[in-house]
Amino acid sequence: MEPVIGIDLGTTNTCVAGVVAGTPQVFPGTGGHNTTPSVFAVDEEGRWMVGHGARRQAITNSEGTVWAFKRLIGRQWGSPDQVRFSNQFPYQLVKGPGGDVRFNLRGMLFSVPEVAASIIAEVKGNAEATLGQSVSKAVITVPAYFNNTRRQATKNAGEIAGLEVLQVINEPTAAALSFGVGRQFNKQVLVFDLGGGTFDVSVLRITEGVFDVLATSGDSYLGGEDFDQRIVDYLTSRMKETHGIDPRSDGMLFQRLREAAEQAKCELSMAATTEIHLPFVGSGAASAHFHESLDREDLEALCEDLIERTVATCLRALEKAGLVRDEIDEIILVGGQTRMPMIQSRVSELFGKEPRKNVHPDEVVALGAALHGEALLDTRSFGDSGNDVILKDVTPLSLGISIAEDFFHVLIPANTAVPVSASHVFTTVRDGQTSARVTLLQGESGLAEENEVLGEFMLTGLREAPRGEVAVKVSIDISEDGMVSVRARDLETGKEQAIEVTDTTGLSQHEIDEARRSVQDEVATASFGEADELVPVQAAD
Ligand code: ADP
Ligand code: MG
Repeated sequence: MEPVIGIDLGTTNTCVAGVVAGTPQVFPGTGGHNTTPSVFAVDEEGRWMVGHGARRQAITNSEGTVWAFKRLIGRQWGSPDQVRFSNQFPYQLVKGPGGDVRFNLRGMLFSVPEVAASIIAEVKGNAEATLGQSVSKAVITVPAYFNNTRRQATKNAGEIAGLEVLQVINEPTAAALSFGVGRQFNKQVLVFDLGGGTFDVSVLRITEGVFDVLATSGDSYLGGEDFDQRIVDYLTSRMKETHGIDPRSDGMLFQRLREAAEQAKCELSMAATTEIHLPFVGSGAASAHFHESLDREDLEALCEDLIERTVATCLRALEKAGLVRDEIDEIILVGGQTRMPMIQSRVSELFGKEPRKNVHPDEVVALGAALHGEALLDTRSFGDSGNDVILKDVTPLSLGISIAEDFFHVLIPANTAVPVSASHVFTTVRDGQTSARVTLLQGESGLAEENEVLGEFMLTGLREAPRGEVAVKVSIDISEDGMVSVRARDLETGKEQAIEVTDTTGLSQHEIDEARRSVQDEVATASFGEADELVPVQAAD
């Protein structure tokens, strides 16, 4: 059977996996690493760099290096998040022709899906090198809270990388899949995913192959970087005290400090104490060595409130799922930051049981996506007799339309199981009103303008009548991979208008095709035809 890969496209790290001879496995990249940094760079000569190579040169090429692009995928120009992140990143953001966000790297413009595609193409190449075969199909994971536009933009990234994206599934659901596929049990599972920049919790019920998501919750501004930041702040004040140097005034020094802080944090997951050495801080004669030691308890004291925020989010998810703590049978820890011992002990204390030990926090999501890809291909080839994994996910955000006076009328509330269809009958607000604008919105605010616009159309040719007489039925559908469509129907004439919400990412088909060509030119992926010979897998460095 043709191979299908599962890709966990993380904010910080990306992981790719597949099912080989019935066993899910991760495909390592250059140097034997099981994950690839989600970093992209362009050097002075305009050459592309992806993953480890891009990450290594980030300090000396800050304006040409993009990291954390996932925060911007599918975001509109001018959205609060774009504004927030443009102040935080050294790279330059510009407005794209479709109202999306683009990166200006050394005078070249890149869309966010194109940057994402460079990472996807890289890990696709890793899979191909291991399998000795080309790969054209994938399942890609996204955070549970991603809205429609962000899912679509992620799908576009897969296409640009030359993949058919069979389905986009939620990261926590994928984690649960990798734990529960092929096992006949009934369990309630909580997935606790603390990555580099985000925190995600999902509660699922697994009943003999059926994966029912009961609730999801999260915090898109909480992740490992916040833990790093606490150390950075602490070291900054120490450096001012001991050397009179403010590292924030020196870009390169500040970047070195950030890396040292992250490294210290990771070491403190293993050791009780660690040393931070930064030689040659300050310039000329004032140049000095900065040295501090940090204990695990110090780190825990600096980050206690961050951990309490994860606890509050878990409790919210439980409440939404209608469960109490004792009813959780298994806790799956996902994301690099869950290696911090205090997180593990706090979670154990909260639920009165130990999290599962045999789950790899960096790989479990990609492995689950690969298993799901296999199941999808099986059902395609063998119909119902194939692998019968059934996913019942929920929609993370409420969906509805804007109505008179700029209110948001919800048709499908957050946390509803998908696929789902819902409809409601609306009427005119004015005498003689012959047309109606239908704006599809996604979000949680009662005010229309505070939610994300997914699409818009006009229903025209309504009968001229006093207000309140004409009836228009609006229906919204969400497919199982979270894609949304909307229809409005004039109940008198039967006239209907429909949109499938696929064109809101700001990328035209032409741009997607162009980007696919450049990604394929620039990111060397192996090509395998019938007559091709094998190439050696690159040796570990
Ligand atoms: P993402 O899903 O956002 O790509 P990951 O799951 O790869 O993120 O997690 C990355 C985060 O995990 C980073 O903040 C990193 O510093 C942190 N991390 C990795 N290893 C450890 C460790 N041993 N101890 C503490 N944090 C770690
Ligand atoms: Mg992740």
